[in-house]
Amino acid sequence: MAETIIHVNGLIKKYGNFTAVNGIDFEVEKGEVFGVLGPNGAGKTTTLEMLVGLRKPDGGAADIGGYDVVRDLKKVKEVIGVQLQSTTLFELLTVEEILVLYASFYKKHVPIHPLIEDMILTDKTKSRIKSLSGGQKQRLAIALALVHDPWIIFLDEPTTGLDPQARRTLWDIIFKLKEKGKTVVLTTHYMDEAHVLCDRIAIMDQGHLIALDTPAALVKSLHSENAVEFRFEKEADIDLEQLHGVKQVGTQKDATVLYTDDLQGTLTSLIQTADSKGLKIADLQVRTATLEDVFIHMTGRSLREA
Ligand code: ATP
Repeated sequence: MAETIIHVNGLIKKYGNFTAVNGIDFEVEKGEVFGVLGPNGAGKTTTLEMLVGLRKPDGGAADIGGYDVVRDLKKVKEVIGVQLQSTTLFELLTVEEILVLYASFYKKHVPIHPLIEDMILTDKTKSRIKSLSGGQKQRLAIALALVHDPWIIFLDEPTTGLDPQARRTLWDIIFKLKEKGKTVVLTTHYMDEAHVLCDRIAIMDQGHLIALDTPAALVKSLHSENAVEFRFEKEADIDLEQLHGVKQVGTQKDATVLYTDDLQGTLTSLIQTADSKGLKIADLQVRTATLEDVFIHMTGRSLREA
């Protein structure tokens, strides 16, 4: 049986009259990579900040490793490591110097050089922080979060702003943390990242948790394995929901998207209907449904434009 390591019950955070997090509940199991996915402003960072003691909840409660995040914050801090979006690093120190400094803050810490190696920073050991790339700085921020050997690690949008290769390197690091038995809670607005990295995903929108499951189960919940994307070359008066197999009709950018459980039937009836009305279909693409489609299905908006 999996052990629940984080309990979140009805957490609320308000900024003045605005409710940024509106009564959310979830649990995180020991050893899993748990993702909080949602568009900008969904309340992901605020949720994470309440869990790590940076913001006091206005309602509800949460505990980590059995410790209440408000009452027992000191204990919580011993078992968690945190990398925030806006970690300020001392630019003039070297990688090694800042890690030694952080290690000195704790009674117990991991050996510094293996940690530098795990974060793929060995050749930067003596480099000043200001000379590091975005991805290297992000990996250093994670190293700093790991220096006291926490078993639960919080990462706030760890790959935002990184190039594809730096993102992949960071994904590998997160996989390795999981292999070591660490529990990782990360926020992201990249659905591909959430899909690849996370055992389970909580989808947030406008302060609410709107879905929580494994990536595969979330996609399966659409009851539509495939998405057919296309445009008509001119305005068309067709009831697309009546086409064979179509479960839902959506739009993504300027394309129409048909979600279907019968790909062949949908394509055939789309083409026949277009032919009978003298319409040309352009930019036709067929793909499997994704977490982005789950978000669109639930909110009517795209993760990117929400
Ligand atoms: P992002 O991906 O942009 O970080 P997010 O999902 O993490 O988004 P939050 O940063 O938690 O979202 O913000 C949730 C909402 O609360 C947003 O509408 C934001 O503008 C608002 N907000 C966040 N911090 C404050 C603050 N200190 N004062 C007032 N409003 C705030």
